[in-house]
Amino acid sequence: MDHFPVFMAVAGRRIVLSGGGDAAMAKLRLIMKTTAHVSVFAETASPEIQGWAVDGKLTLINRAVEPGDAMCAVLFYAANEDDAEDARVAAIAHADGAKVNIVDNLADSQFITPAIVDRDPVVVAIGTEGAAPVVARKVKADIEAQLPASLGVLARIGKTFRSAVEVLPMGAKRRTFWSDFYFNAGPKAVEADGQSAVIPTLESLLDKHIMTTEKAGHVDLVGAGPGDPELLTLKARNALDKADVVIHDRLVTPEILELARREAVIIDAGKTGFGPAMVQGDIDALIVEHAVKGHHVVRLKAGDPTVFGRLDEEVDACDAAGISWRIVPGITAASAAVANIGQSLTKRDRNSSVRFITGHDTKGYADHDWRALAQNGEVAAIYMGKKSARFIQGRLLMHGADPATPVTIIENVSRTDQQIIATTLSDLEPTLTRANLRGPAITFYGLAPRAAMDAADTLPLEEFA
Ligand code: SAH
Repeated sequence: MDHFPVFMAVAGRRIVLSGGGDAAMAKLRLIMKTTAHVSVFAETASPEIQGWAVDGKLTLINRAVEPGDAMCAVLFYAANEDDAEDARVAAIAHADGAKVNIVDNLADSQFITPAIVDRDPVVVAIGTEGAAPVVARKVKADIEAQLPASLGVLARIGKTFRSAVEVLPMGAKRRTFWSDFYFNAGPKAVEADGQSAVIPTLESLLDKHIMTTEKAGHVDLVGAGPGDPELLTLKARNALDKADVVIHDRLVTPEILELARREAVIIDAGKTGFGPAMVQGDIDALIVEHAVKGHHVVRLKAGDPTVFGRLDEEVDACDAAGISWRIVPGITAASAAVANIGQSLTKRDRNSSVRFITGHDTKGYADHDWRALAQNGEVAAIYMGKKSARFIQGRLLMHGADPATPVTIIENVSRTDQQIIATTLSDLEPTLTRANLRGPAITFYGLAPRAAMDAADTLPLEEFA
């Protein structure tokens, strides 16, 4: 983008134009829409321009531009249709401190004027940097067709009504009111009864929206993936786009929260593994509290919400409160981690099943079918397994697992600070304690990073960066 679109404050300020022919008139038709003071310098001006001067829409000075004429002007147009004269007046305007546009001379212009769809105060500016005027015209025509002609009037009057509408709760309810006004009730009222019908329409529409039974909210239980925003699903992105409230876990990264709708209220329900925690019941209540207000709540959980995510408690809470809900799956830590060590979770002739196990549950270290896991070739993805590593190691060895079984720990999967530690069951501890990991980590029992497969059988492996 070589030209940055901005809306310039021109009310009560000067815009100066040099020229009196067709090019000048085309620009003046746009400029005269503003509340700026417009001055035109032209030795000979077309009858239209003279007429606009008579109507007081601009000031016409019947001579060529001289030094000082563009003093205090914010914008200056050279529209003489004469390169030499345009260059002369542009130099003067530069010296006077105005921003200069030379009509049909992109290279020497400091700004360009976009095509405009005017529903003042709603203004759409369209630019193609001179590359494709035909595209600009098409876009303009499409937008003209989409925006009701009365939109400007509606917006001007609607603006005076904004504080009255604050009786409606912020978020979906208020947005529904305004879109009903701008795209339905408002245009109909203006068409039928003119401008004077707008305020009564706003009043009765507001009554109607206040009376409408509170729109039920909705809860999306969304998987945020392991951290990399590119590992979000499109469904998750769309849900974040629409959210009124986002309630997220501690493991959800700031890059992902960044994608939430700008107006969304973001709430950290972060539960630290062993530290002070927001208890699950409070999180359930929080979700319900926002949803019953009619809000679209996104409950954003690390990885996949159905994997060690305490999803059912939240779903039950929604059901109990009669709130609609939907689960949006995400990429679980195990899937992202196994990809990053170049392995697959299952493999013909090695393991025909894979277990996702947790290191601890509500009762403490979690018990599993250790005898089955100790068999050759078994694979398990161990979530929340840092503190319980020694327990798991002990149980597996006790049940006859091969001490040389490869074990891989992956911290901060898919994030810029991802760390892979390849070791063996016999060395899992103290390797893990020594690594002093601070981020979330997943442990693969029975898998080594692909590059280190052979070495894993014989050597206690060092860290992989
Ligand atoms: N629902 C999540 C798991 C929640 S339990 C998922 O599907 O991934 C929390 C555990 O998940 C952490 O203790 C850790 O073992 C694992 N985990 C989550 N995100 C991780 C990440 N980016 N890197 C490594 N492990 C992660």
